[in-house]
Amino acid sequence: MKKQIKVAIDGPAGAGKSTIAKAVAKRLGIFYVDTGAMYRAIALKSLRSNIPIDQEEEVGQMVQKTEIILEHSEARRVFCDGEEVTEAIRSPEVSRAVSKIAAYPVVRDRLVQLQRQEAERGAVIMDGRDIGTIVLPEADLKIFLTASPEERAHRRWLELCNSGREVSLIEVQQDMEKRDRQDSEREVSPLVPANDALILDTTGLSIQEIVEQIIALTLVFKEG
Ligand code: C5P
Repeated sequence: MKKQIKVAIDGPAGAGKSTIAKAVAKRLGIFYVDTGAMYRAIALKSLRSNIPIDQEEEVGQMVQKTEIILEHSEARRVFCDGEEVTEAIRSPEVSRAVSKIAAYPVVRDRLVQLQRQEAERGAVIMDGRDIGTIVLPEADLKIFLTASPEERAHRRWLELCNSGREVSLIEVQQDMEKRDRQDSEREVSPLVPANDALILDTTGLSIQEIVEQIIALTLVFKEG
């Protein structure tokens, strides 16, 4: 495998991006960067500091003054201005707010800059919505993961239940549909597969099967 390989994983919510990207990163011994965590950290900070999420200018000013750190250890802790927010950024409130702030160009410019810096650390697999199109357009391998809306909602609901949150499946499905619509219809960096992305439908497939497919694809890239 190429030493400095860059792998881009994009797709809608609940397609399995982060679970799969983490497993691939572990197997290949490369960095994993969860770009959604960065957008979530900004959404959480807006909510906590009473910055209305529809105030683009205020949110934009706040982003410039915010430090986000993604730990590369197994625990993959997320820090915002020195405070650990790993769990807090997964709340349904943050999930509902995040797409609004993620549509602001000023937020995207800053976070894309941070994401590219992360990619410079070496071989990396990065997941998000615009990795193959905007963040790493030169990535060696671009995968667009999808699954049926029912399966995606069910997976996300199970994740939330397993982390001790009480939410109904229908609520998760509705929130997810709204978020996907916002992410796909926004003007800046909408969720679309890159022209050279491989589209993988994960409906009915196990995590292991998808991980194996992606690992096999990375082997095509020769040492270099
Ligand atoms: O990946 P995750 O579901 O945690 O992402 C949360 C939200 O962050 C997405 O719904 C989207 O609005 C935003 N996002 C984005 N671009 C990325 C990653 C996430 O707009 N590269």
